[in-house]
Amino acid sequence: GADISARNIDTLSSSFPLCMQNLHRSLRRDAHLKHFGRLQYTLFLKGIGLNLEECLVFWRSSFSKITDDTFNKEYRYNVRHTYGDVGGDSNRRGGGYTPFSCQKILTEHPPGPGEAHGCPYRHFSIDNLTALLQNVGVKDQEVLRGVKEDKEKTKFHLACNRVFEYVHKQEIKKVRDDGTWGASQLETIVHPNEYFKRSYMLKN
Ligand code: SF4
Repeated sequence: GADISARNIDTLSSSFPLCMQNLHRSLRRDAHLKHFGRLQYTLFLKGIGLNLEECLVFWRSSFSKITDDTFNKEYRYNVRHTYGDVGGDSNRRGGGYTPFSCQKILTEHPPGPGEAHGCPYRHFSIDNLTALLQNVGVKDQEVLRGVKEDKEKTKFHLACNRVFEYVHKQEIKKVRDDGTWGASQLETIVHPNEYFKRSYMLKN
C-alpha cells in the first residue's frame, strides 16, 4: 500500500497541485508557514491520508529553526485541532475540518505579503506564476501560453487541469487507450486532493 508518512512528503510532493507545491516549497525555504498556509496545507495532508502522529512529526521537523518547547506551545494544538483531536464537540465528532476545495481556496482569504496559501493560478502575477511553473518543471511554451490565456480569462481550474494533463500526458494516454479510466475519472479536477489522488494513481 501507499506509504503516506512524514519522511515521504518531499517525494510525494511531485504529485501535489501547484497550490500545495508552493506551500511545500515555501515551507522548505523558510522553515515556517503562516497561519492560513498551515491550515490549507495541514488539511490537504490529512486528505491524502497522513495521520495525525505523522502530521505532527512533519510539522515539527519542518519548523527546524524553533525549539520543541515553542513548537509544543504554539503549533501542536492547532494541528491536533485541525484533525479533530481536540476542540469543540462538533469538530471532534466530525473528525476535524474538511480539506479545502479549489472553490474555497480561490475565493476565501486571499494571501497577503509573506503568505503562501491560496491558488497560484489566481493569486500570483503572470510572471511569478510562469517562474513557479518552470521551477517545478513545466517549461513547455505552449502550455505556459495556455496557462496565461486561462488566467487572463479567470479560468483558473482550466489552467490547473491543463498543467495536470501536460505533466501526466503519457499516463493519461495509456489509461484512456486501454480503457482503465472512464469519463468520470477524467473529469475536470476541482479539488486539490483529487489532483493528488489521480496523479498518485497514474504514477504508481
Ligand atoms: Fe490548487 Fe485548485 Fe488552484 Fe489547482 S486550481 S492550484 S488544485 S486551488
